[in-house]
Amino acid sequence: MSVQLPDTNSRYHRQELITWWDQEKLLSSRVLVVGAGAIGNEVAKNLALVGVGHVEICDMDTIEHSNLARCVFFRDSHEGRNKAEVLAQEIATLNPDIVALGHGVAVQRLGIGYLRGFDIIIGALDNREARAWVNQACRKLGKYWIDGAIEGLRGLVRIFGPDGPCYACTLTEADYKQMSHRKSCALLAPEEILAGKTPTNATTAAIVAGIQVQEAIKFLTDNQDLLSVVGKVWSYTGDTMDVFVSKYQEDDYCLAHDFYDTILSESVHDTLASAITHAASVLGEDPVALDFEDDLITVLPCHNCGSGEPATKLRSAFGLGEGRCEGCGAERVGDMVTSLPIDSPIVDLAVTELGFPLSDMVTIRGNTNRVAVVVSGGN
Ligand SMILES: [Zn+2]
Ligand SMILES: [Zn+2]
Repeated sequence: MSVQLPDTNSRYHRQELITWWDQEKLLSSRVLVVGAGAIGNEVAKNLALVGVGHVEICDMDTIEHSNLARCVFFRDSHEGRNKAEVLAQEIATLNPDIVALGHGVAVQRLGIGYLRGFDIIIGALDNREARAWVNQACRKLGKYWIDGAIEGLRGLVRIFGPDGPCYACTLTEADYKQMSHRKSCALLAPEEILAGKTPTNATTAAIVAGIQVQEAIKFLTDNQDLLSVVGKVWSYTGDTMDVFVSKYQEDDYCLAHDFYDTILSESVHDTLASAITHAASVLGEDPVALDFEDDLITVLPCHNCGSGEPATKLRSAFGLGEGRCEGCGAERVGDMVTSLPIDSPIVDLAVTELGFPLSDMVTIRGNTNRVAVVVSGGN
């Protein structure tokens, strides 16, 4: 058997000399990068350089002057533009072999259904809420995701898979308390769940992103046996140069250990009623209820002054301050549900009207079975 040697004229020749490398696999891979800040820039740079064929990036933030010292692709002239869009545009220039798309929205607005289209998800995030969302989405879809985090000169990388410990298993009771406190303000838009400004710098971001993409390459080229931090954390302290790896404990009572038994993906629905009809055909029993991935919030006219229009939308679709009364500033709180009985009149509304993200999933259940169906909204 003759061994095929890499083409010396290939753009990728040097890396193809790595014995287990598989450039074809990388070029046909699809990766979603969640976050286009300091880590996201470095992750995207590495993915583009090694030739990952399809990269999408999402981030709702715009480029500020204080990003320029940490983000390799951002220039003064980009200030005020969306981070994900600029980053995608710049990496496509770095490597014309690849396709790069930027989405100027929070990952929740792409929706869990959108994540089905990727081989792996890379988290370049700065807050727990978004990490918890990505974690839950990946767990339900049976996908791997690679989280990276930095603070000062410290950084960590961890991979969570379809089983074993997940990100939620690593959270303490105090973390949960803080998250549920923030969530209890019913109409907190994603923009309002702001992470504190943590001290970070370019070198730490580069180190962490380098490890993340190195692990992603092993995964994408089917060298899973080389993956070393699944269910574990790689932790780095730049002040002392200490590095260690430790294993996470799986929490048997973790609320995030849920998955879709069956996904009906052959058709995409634009009303919940149509999703229910589709699900009913395979459920083997009468559908009873449907579950959402997000809270469905019904806002009523202001209890204080009576003004404002009633609205029923998913939590992530509410804009900044939209839950407050325009007239008197009081919070317009109504009902909040994550499930509906299938005879609710809401199921006949268009999912775009209900604020569903670009590609979402709803679970339709009977008394014993359940199936997940894809619904398409917008962002
Ligand atoms: Zn867990
Ligand atoms: Zn009012």
